[in-house]
Order: sequence, then C-alpha cells, then structure tokens
Amino acid sequence: MKIFSSVAVIASLFLSMPDTAIADNTEDMIIDKVVKAYGGSKLTKLKSISVESEYFQRSPGQGYSPGVDELKFYKRESHFNPAEQVGKTKFEMLGLDHFYSMGNFASKNKSVRLDYVHDQYNYDDGETGYYQILGGYLRGIDTILAYELNSRRSTAEYRGKENYRGKSNSIISYEFPFSPPLFLTIDDETGYIIKMERRFEERDLTVRYLFDNHKKTNGVLFAQNYTLFQNNHLDTMVMKRSVKINRVSKKELAIDEFLSSDWDYLESLSEPTVALVSPGYHHVTISGNSSSFVDSGDYLISVGSNAGLKARHEAYVSSTNNTKPIKYHVITHHHNDHLDSVQDAYDLGATIVAPSSAMATVKARLVNGYDENRFLSVDQSVDLGAANMYVISTYHTNEFGLLYAKDAKTIFEADHYGADAIQVPVRAFFTGYSLFQAVEPLNSDIENIARAHGRKILKWSDFAIAVEDYKNLMCKTTRQLCS
Ligand SMILES: [Zn+2]
Repeated sequence: MKIFSSVAVIASLFLSMPDTAIADNTEDMIIDKVVKAYGGSKLTKLKSISVESEYFQRSPGQGYSPGVDELKFYKRESHFNPAEQVGKTKFEMLGLDHFYSMGNFASKNKSVRLDYVHDQYNYDDGETGYYQILGGYLRGIDTILAYELNSRRSTAEYRGKENYRGKSNSIISYEFPFSPPLFLTIDDETGYIIKMERRFEERDLTVRYLFDNHKKTNGVLFAQNYTLFQNNHLDTMVMKRSVKINRVSKKELAIDEFLSSDWDYLESLSEPTVALVSPGYHHVTISGNSSSFVDSGDYLISVGSNAGLKARHEAYVSSTNNTKPIKYHVITHHHNDHLDSVQDAYDLGATIVAPSSAMATVKARLVNGYDENRFLSVDQSVDLGAANMYVISTYHTNEFGLLYAKDAKTIFEADHYGADAIQVPVRAFFTGYSLFQAVEPLNSDIENIARAHGRKILKWSDFAIAVEDYKNLMCKTTRQLCS
C-alpha cells in the first residue's frame, strides 16, 4: 500500500530475522526519517528554540488525592539551547483564587529558581543542571525529542510496530539523562513523533506525551498541540503553542536583570541536630529530614515521617534521655516522601494517626501486615494529650494533618512554607498563603512553626508578614494574567 513507507515495509521484513543483524539498520533508518521530517540539518544544527504555550494543568501530584483537582491556567515561555545545554522557562499561573509566576534557569552544572512574584532568584542547593531541572519541559517538546534522539542514536532500540489511531507506527526507545528510557511512537508515513512514553514499572505508572497538529516554522517541525497523561489521568493540555527557531537573545537565556538574590541557606547537616523549641517539644533533623517529639506526660507524640524516623528517634533519646514510649505518630499527608517512615513508626509501637483519606495509602506501606487496632483515622480533629491534630484543606493536599502542640504553641507543617534560609521572614508562596488561610481561623495562639523539610524553626508572626506580602504582590497590575 502506498501510505506505508519503504521504512515500514523493510522493518517488517526484518522482524523474522535475528535481532543483531538488523538492529543498526532499522534504528538508523527510523531516526534518519525523524530527523528529515523535523528539518534535517536545520534540526541537527539547532542553536536555539523558543516555545510559547497556553495550557491547563491539574497537577494531581504524587499520589491519589480525593476530590477534584483544581484546573489551573498557565502561560509559559521557554528558551533552550540544546547544544550548549542552557535553558530558561518562566510561567504565569492563574488558579481559582490565586496567582503566581515563577521560572527556572539552568546550564550544565548550575540552576536557579526565578521568583517573579517577589522579583528574586535563588540558587538551587540540591539537584542542579540542564536535564535535572528542565527535563520535564524538554520532554514535552517533540522537536527537542527529535534533536536528542539524533544525538543519542547509539542508545536507540527498535521496539516493534504500533497501530495507533488507524495508522502504522514504529516504536523506538532511547536513553535520556535522569529519566527512564523514552519510547517514541513514530508515524511511518510522515516520520512525526506522535507519542512518547516513560514507563515507571515499580510505580505502575506510565506517563504519556501526545503530540498533534504538527507544523513547520523556519524549516523546523513542531507539534502545536501537546497533552500529558499519567496513566489514564489527564495532567496537562496545551491549547496553543508557537515556536521560534534560532531567535533567542542573550537576555532571554540568562537570569533576568530585574531579579535580585538575597537568600543564603543554612548548611544541611548529616549529623543529627536536636533543637529544644520549647519545654517538652524537640525538633530533630538529619540531612534535611525532620521529626518533632512532644512529651505528653506518660508518653511521647511524634510527627514527621520522611525517611529516617528511627534514626531521629535514637538521636532524640540520646540527647534528652527521654525513653518514654511513642504512643501516637501523626502522619501529615499521603504524599510518597512523607510516608517513608510509616514502618519505623509502627515498629516503634506507635498508633498511627492520619487524615482518614490518607489511611489506605498509609497501610499500603506496611508490607509485613499490621494490627487493625493500631490506627486512628481523623476527619476533623483529635486531642492526643499535649497536642491536637487538625485536618485542614490546602492547595497542597485536600486533607492535611496539622499537629499543634499546646504548651509549646508550635505547629508542625510539611511542604507549604519555609526554607532553611538565613533571612527572615522567609518568603511565602501560594501554598503558604493557603496554609495560613486554613490555620488562622482554627487557632490564634501559635508562636512557632516546625517543618518536615528542615531544621530552622520559623516564627508565626514572620509567617503572617510573609503571607501579607504575598497577598499584596499576587496581582500586581503588571501581571498579564491579572489585568
Ligand atoms: Zn507533599
């Protein structure tokens, strides 16, 4: 049939032959076809690509969250120089009642967070570099996928045929830095990339990137529509995308001149730190992961289930000589990294206290079985003795377990606000704003904030100032989306 290209015919003839004999040839033929479709030497010698898009995103996060995810509207502008491995991406986001604007700049070995709400930038202290920081955006652009496929063709593997939407396609995989291999579905007739998949087998997760309505600009091909699915869940839907080739200016590929930097961080320590926040309240941190321990008379209450609870409890005992049993361990929320120590808490003998919607996810972490009487599901609030646990709703998660230690007047929070920064007040973003909105009506007698991701104890009064600043900045008239 005429619609099948010679590549497809030859590839299918090869299917009955030994793998090694055909490998090089089939992959190279498919890759050459993709390169030709995407612009030939205009693609392989690409100096820069700029992408503007408008899209909706649900951001379902790391795990099941009950209720409907809020749809947010984004405008994003990105610039990449793939040969030099330099890139910048900035976006404006409008939610139902909040706004923010941020970005990232990365080169081979450094990266910076761009904060267009406060007009600040700060260096990332953890993962850095082009592929680590910008990988998520790079993989959503089929032109970049074609460019990288060509430069990594030695890692490519032909994976067979796929009939997709009534057309014959070839599947080819290749290695991409800091990612599982990328599986491309290539239209046999046109050489267009119509789909890309990343398969995370251990998490039962396939992330699908769909590309449609391809168009050429300056001789280089790109898809105008792009949709991202996590398994069967719609994550991102790009309505409109436009691309410019080799037009990027020096300014666009640099940290914006109007941003300034004022953040310095406390050093992350692998040795435990045990801080006395208030009599009876200790905050223990090892390598940036923290738990708090609250003395409640005959027993302890613990909170904070990032990896390493057992080691943090040991550090607490050796520092305080307090060997009271942990009666309750409070789970903040269902996100993966905050459940890594569920087994530790269970093994330490604690009753696991969690928002009811998170309980099934919590139990799934106890792979060796459990006693049904060792769980306490909370819908609104519970009095645990020296501390209460409130279930609140925020932009980060629908049900969040907030511990409030009564005498210490201290809350324990995760993922909403704060950093181990030296400057005060630490700036707030939309998640901090939503935490403040949820907590303030519940309790007005709070002095300190202890955090799951750090050792610095923040002041509630500084948090209030930071939230007020954020509110004032949220819709400056210069912001395109708010006008
Ligand atoms: Zn989280």
